[in-house]
Amino acid sequence: MEAPPKPRQCSSFDTTGIHYLTINYSYMQLFRNKLFPATLDQPRTAFTFHVLDDFIRDNLECGTSGSNYVSKLRRITSNIFPHLVPNRYRELLRVSRIWRLLKLLKWKGFGHRNREPKQGELALFCPSCPQPGINCNPTDEEVSSWKYTRTLVMDGNFKAKHMHDKRPEDQIWLMDGLAYMVGRSEYQSYLKATHHPLERSTCNNHRALESTGVGGTACARHGCFVPHTLVDFQKGEWQVNMDYSLAYAMQYNMKNIVRIINFYDINCAYIKKL
Ligand SMILES: [Zn+2]
Ligand SMILES: [Zn+2]
Repeated sequence: MEAPPKPRQCSSFDTTGIHYLTINYSYMQLFRNKLFPATLDQPRTAFTFHVLDDFIRDNLECGTSGSNYVSKLRRITSNIFPHLVPNRYRELLRVSRIWRLLKLLKWKGFGHRNREPKQGELALFCPSCPQPGINCNPTDEEVSSWKYTRTLVMDGNFKAKHMHDKRPEDQIWLMDGLAYMVGRSEYQSYLKATHHPLERSTCNNHRALESTGVGGTACARHGCFVPHTLVDFQKGEWQVNMDYSLAYAMQYNMKNIVRIINFYDINCAYIKKL
């Protein structure tokens, strides 16, 4: 029989501050007690499920960064000496990313399935736009009626810039192409094949940018982004980037739908070479 693990000190992070526990549990028992360990091997730090949910809500609704959130927890633990409370910023970032992925997998019913999620399968599309087989079941004659026309709107955004990673080899992609952004390797090989030179800018302010913005496709009536259609821009809003987005949007849950109305602020130029 395996010897029980030795008792050890573990710091647990909760919305009420940081608490110290002596535990002789394995990580599985931590999970059963709603504690998410920062490491699986001999965990010394754990986050309560509650604090992870709270951080995601604060991040979404209040724009709270990971470091601000950890500062708040340290302040709650000790209002006089917050700097003496251990800083678990890096651990929070890592665990909260895994937490988001696990929740998405759970919501999409992947807990007990034997297959891996497909492209865009961890994101939701519009519940109101007709998607045959999902929220309506039109006959073959009905589906060609105007009612089942898909309306799409395309646009770019130049505020979502992305810097080059300092150590790209350390990056692990948890949701590569599984939600709204397109899968990296397939998109990169598509871009290479289109013979658009991916020149690096000589300007100091822009040299570090891996991506100068994003573009995507959404349903025009309700503004819901189509999963697996958000693309990175390498330099401006190129037609090749938006083509890739539109090509995936036109396949998304479109069974037998034959008509699409597409809105795009530069359609006058875009449509010419489509
Ligand atoms: Zn819609
Ligand atoms: Zn125009």
